[in-house]
Amino acid sequence: MRLLSLEIEGFKSFADKTVIDFRPGMTGIIGPNGSGKSNIIEAIRWVMGEQSAKTLRGDKMADVIFNGAADRKPLNRAQVKITLDNSDHYLDSEFTELTVTRRLYRNGDSEYLVNDRPVRLKDIVDLFIDSGIGRESFSIISQGRVAAIFNGKPTDRREVIETVAGVAKYKQNKRAAEKR
Ligand code: ATP
Ligand code: MG
Repeated sequence: MRLLSLEIEGFKSFADKTVIDFRPGMTGIIGPNGSGKSNIIEAIRWVMGEQSAKTLRGDKMADVIFNGAADRKPLNRAQVKITLDNSDHYLDSEFTELTVTRRLYRNGDSEYLVNDRPVRLKDIVDLFIDSGIGRESFSIISQGRVAAIFNGKPTDRREVIETVAGVAKYKQNKRAAEKR
């Protein structure tokens, strides 16, 4: 499984449609302060189902929608789309190539699509759970996260280990079963 491309439109500082193709190997993103490097990482988090506006450095989720610049009016919609090579079926899906799209409108309407078919947030979360790249994974380590893990309570650290070990999925299924 590999990230092939990322398409960002109306998300944070990316007003116009911007496509980043990831070639095999390592990709580095460089640029001056405030040029949007962190916004790119946040777009990846967001499309994989991030629900915390705070994690995305906002107060409310609508803060991710392009809110205008000196020469540009705010936009009404944020859209992020990632394309993944899933030919090894690392992600639990029959598709060899997967596109995941998330949209959010100012009126609060939102949509998730997998290969252009509408799905629920739960489907997105399930797709990425235990893959190591989902919204609660540790493949994206933001500033302060390392210190938070080291300084955290033992129970919080245990949660980290359980996620890495792949136990999180079973705990989630157990919680869901107990609710029924
Ligand atoms: P640094 O090197 O300082 O970490 P960076 O390249 O990571 O910088 P970002 O934090 O990704 O930069 O981008 C910050 C910019 O994104 C700011 O100029 C901010 O105004 C802009 N920005 C954030 N949210 C929005 C939004 N909703 N609409 C328009 N611009 C936004
Ligand atoms: Mg940054």
